[in-house]
Amino acid sequence: MIQKSSNLFQRAQQVIPGGVNSPVRAFKAVGGNPLFMASAKGPYLFDEDGNQYLDFINSWGPMILGHACETVEKAVQDALGKSFSFGAPTRREVEMAELIVQMVPSLEKVRMVNSGTEATMSAIRVARGFTGKDKIIKFEGCYHGHGDSFLISAGSGAITLGVPDSPGVTKGVAQDTITVPFNNLAAVKVAVEANAGQIAAIILEPVVGNMGLVPPVKGFLQGLRDLCTQQNIVLIFDEVMTGFRLAKGGAQELYNVLPDMTTLGKIIGGGMPVGAYGGKKEIMDCVAPAGPVYQAGTLSGNPIAMAAGFAMLTYLNEHPEVYAYLENLTSKLVEGMQANLAKLNLAYTINRVGSMFSIFFTPDPVTDFESAKQSDLALFGQYFNSMLRQGIYLAPSQFESLFVSIALTDKLADQYIAANLAALQVIHQ
Ligand code: PLP
Repeated sequence: MIQKSSNLFQRAQQVIPGGVNSPVRAFKAVGGNPLFMASAKGPYLFDEDGNQYLDFINSWGPMILGHACETVEKAVQDALGKSFSFGAPTRREVEMAELIVQMVPSLEKVRMVNSGTEATMSAIRVARGFTGKDKIIKFEGCYHGHGDSFLISAGSGAITLGVPDSPGVTKGVAQDTITVPFNNLAAVKVAVEANAGQIAAIILEPVVGNMGLVPPVKGFLQGLRDLCTQQNIVLIFDEVMTGFRLAKGGAQELYNVLPDMTTLGKIIGGGMPVGAYGGKKEIMDCVAPAGPVYQAGTLSGNPIAMAAGFAMLTYLNEHPEVYAYLENLTSKLVEGMQANLAKLNLAYTINRVGSMFSIFFTPDPVTDFESAKQSDLALFGQYFNSMLRQGIYLAPSQFESLFVSIALTDKLADQYIAANLAALQVIHQ
């Protein structure tokens, strides 16, 4: 029964574009209507009709400790009694910045904003201000939020809905964004040479979550690092998904490659709307009021969001065993899926890094946007719906990563693996 969700969707479509406040929540790519959620606890979501789902979206990443985690809940409750917003600096903002700088290897200074989009938009403005250059390089299928400069060959909902190049982005802005295939260092070098002296920044998801999960090939990140150093280009790792998830210090810690700037979001708000960008001192000192590059936010560093994020990050900092647990459990999930594929004589591709993973319905390796697009989207839709009928909530698009939280147990992983087998059987019967 999903009557209440259906009714809400009917009402929503009258007053909200497409009935959803973010396109990735729509079920357009997989058929059917989105489910409207009423509450969540631990590994589960509960919809308006009272159905329970094992959640593998985890709010698109931030719920790494599971839903309604008590540590975060308590911190928010304590903060609520003090103020919803001061519009003045607070102690918690200082503690938060100190903790982020301590955890993320390349960061020396950090500025809080309110979303991942704000973080990436601000980071490229700062990179341009710092270098005095205009153009940026991004990778096809990477998603960096909905800033104009990034809606060019964009991933995530933009690919899912078939609008990687959004109308509304002016030609002037678009011509300053150069796109190249992910994992292709030679193509990056060609683009840099063709635009010699004009590239302010190269921005990428060091592990891509927004065309499905795509890891960097060996040497790619280091190759970018070396190129940026040689050419005086600011290397920006967009760690909005990977930050504090793949390791305490994010993908840069995992792969031991340090960018000049890093963008963060999601996890640092513990589920509240937060983002941040930071980097080397000399770059971040360009930001107002220390320097001339303007960036501001009435609600930036909001005390409730800071309380939630600080509790989340403190927990992760003090419990590094979280990462070993997630690594082992997600590797068990993927091994289970691979065993299922072998049992059914199917050869699909599964990519995983830490607690992020994706199945692609193609036998070929998926290393970039072109190869991700080889996945059979009709099969993905059937697979998604079969998993949903079994109470497993996956991202309603091929071009998204799945996320595991520590609320997932070994037993629930077995449930997932059994559901995966049944779903593969259903779509191939
Ligand atoms: N960067 C990456 C890598 C993301 O995955 C996202 C969102 O999914 C963003 C930026 C944008 O963040 P937000 O949705 O908070 O604006």
